[in-house]
Amino acid sequence: MATMQSLIGLVNRIQRACTVLGDHGGEGMSLWEALPSVAVVGGQSSGKSSVLESVVGRDFLPRGSGIVTRRPLVLQLHQTNEGQAEYAEFLHAPRKKFTDFAAVRKEIQDETDRITGKTKQISNHPIHLSIYSPNVVNLTLIDLPGLTKVAVEGQPDSIVEDIENMVRLYVEKPNSIILAISPANQDIATSDAIKLAREVDPTGERTFGVLTKLDLMDKGTNAVDVLEGRSYRLQHPWVGIVNRSQADINKNVDMMAARRKEREYFQTSPEYGHLAHKMGAEYLAKLLSKRIPSIISLINKTIDELNAELDRIGRPIAVDSGAQLYTILELCRAFDRVFKEHLDGGRPGGDRIYGVFDHQLPAALKKLPFDRHLSTKNVQRVVSEADGYQPHLIAPEQGYRRLIDGSIGFFKGPAEASVDAVHHVLKELVRKSIAETEELKRFPTLTSDIAAAAAEALERFREDSKKTVLRLVDMESSYLTVDFFRKLHLEPEKNPNPAGPNADRHSDNHFRRIGSNVSAYINMVCETLKNSIPKAVVYCQVREAKRSLLGHFYAQLGRKEKERLSAMLDEDPALMEKRATIAKRLELYKSARDEIDSVAWK
Ligand code: GDP
Ligand code: MG
Repeated sequence: MATMQSLIGLVNRIQRACTVLGDHGGEGMSLWEALPSVAVVGGQSSGKSSVLESVVGRDFLPRGSGIVTRRPLVLQLHQTNEGQAEYAEFLHAPRKKFTDFAAVRKEIQDETDRITGKTKQISNHPIHLSIYSPNVVNLTLIDLPGLTKVAVEGQPDSIVEDIENMVRLYVEKPNSIILAISPANQDIATSDAIKLAREVDPTGERTFGVLTKLDLMDKGTNAVDVLEGRSYRLQHPWVGIVNRSQADINKNVDMMAARRKEREYFQTSPEYGHLAHKMGAEYLAKLLSKRIPSIISLINKTIDELNAELDRIGRPIAVDSGAQLYTILELCRAFDRVFKEHLDGGRPGGDRIYGVFDHQLPAALKKLPFDRHLSTKNVQRVVSEADGYQPHLIAPEQGYRRLIDGSIGFFKGPAEASVDAVHHVLKELVRKSIAETEELKRFPTLTSDIAAAAAEALERFREDSKKTVLRLVDMESSYLTVDFFRKLHLEPEKNPNPAGPNADRHSDNHFRRIGSNVSAYINMVCETLKNSIPKAVVYCQVREAKRSLLGHFYAQLGRKEKERLSAMLDEDPALMEKRATIAKRLELYKSARDEIDSVAWK
């Protein structure tokens, strides 16, 4: 029994871990579901209930001739702590504790009758029974009604099929171990148990062929051909069993005595003596324990899957503020890296800043209405206004200044527009970079904090940039390039016919020349600004964004309270819950693996 005890002890501990960690199945990944249940399949009175009891080592099932088991019995054995009183509980009567196992057996019978009546009918409503005892092992056992060939008095014609379907329901589950019970005193060729087991488990991996009633075979016949696998080959070797006879049951022969008798039977048997070490309930229990490696591989596979899933959604974050600060800075840096790649190349978008300088700014400058402002008529108006009552004598110094100032004012528009255009490119790159920083995905609060800090910084850079470019424009007004004017001849043209009708034309020419002089000067200023505005914009916005987009944010971070830091690392509640579930499950599987490692398997 040592091996079965350790198998059961293992399953027991794993199941207890499942309970403690709240793992009760669902989503197809529960360890509970992966644990084996043992279901017995076979014809009526083939010895199914007897074999189950024998494997478990407890007497509690109704046994006997005729259809005794008429409803599935799902029996959960729960091991309790040493010294605790043994009791049983039915799902249909949850508060009633049974301490007498004869009463348990009777309640199974009564509960069967309650649904099926005292007839020979069967029902597929299972009876759920839990036994709590320090002397049992945690295992789910399923006792099933026997397969029949014909309906008897009081049974519907469909009974044969009904039973088969019901049994199938229980043995189809990939983790159920099938004990296919055939009595040795009947022809194996007619065994329904083997037929059904082959159907639901074609590879035979989870089927154990059990031959009962070896002691009841006709004198002169034996089952050696079957037991040695010559007649009917199964994946696992056949196991011969000798259970208690009806006479033994009537005499209340207990489990231990039955075991001893079975052992003696095989050891002294002339036919089976050479097979004695591979026969009996104890050996069957040992075979069942070999199912464990598949549980181990399932556990290892699941641990790998859970680890991969945790890596995907991110590991839990540290709780001390130093580590949290570090995490936040790491995340900021990850974002910053992506952002810089957008600006410097590697990721797209930075080229759009050059687009602003190369297309947008020159196009805007070209569209400025200098033609209108420096039209002869307007020049005349501005110059005359500047002259006042005393027209200028040689050159209209004041008029020039006013015309130039007025023109230079037009540059403010395109200068500010360049600042805004680059601002929008940078904002868009921040948005993209946040979206592309995988690490940030799980931290919505920190993400919006970073977004806000970056937006605020870009706004500051924009203000500064605007001030700078407007200053560049103002500088052009504040001091004109003297050389440019020295090279010009600013005196009015000599009129060949001063008193003649050409007086108007004379003044026309005069103002046109003033207009074109101013225009030439403005063109020169335009060329200068076309070069200097991009320099200012890059200096104030792009360079600053690269250097210290999150500079202020970092400075504030250092002063933040612990609570604020952990609040920044808040995650999507659904994600946190998912991680907690996975972590819990991982812990369960790891403890299961440790349990297995601590048991020495022979
Ligand atoms: P089930 O209907 O398949 O659950 O079979 P039971 O376990 O209720 O057993 C039916 C009858 O066969 C009972 O009277 C048992 O005592 C008897 N029986 C079962 N196995 C053996 C066996 O190996 N040897 C003998 N002599 N009787 C057995
Ligand atoms: Mg039975």
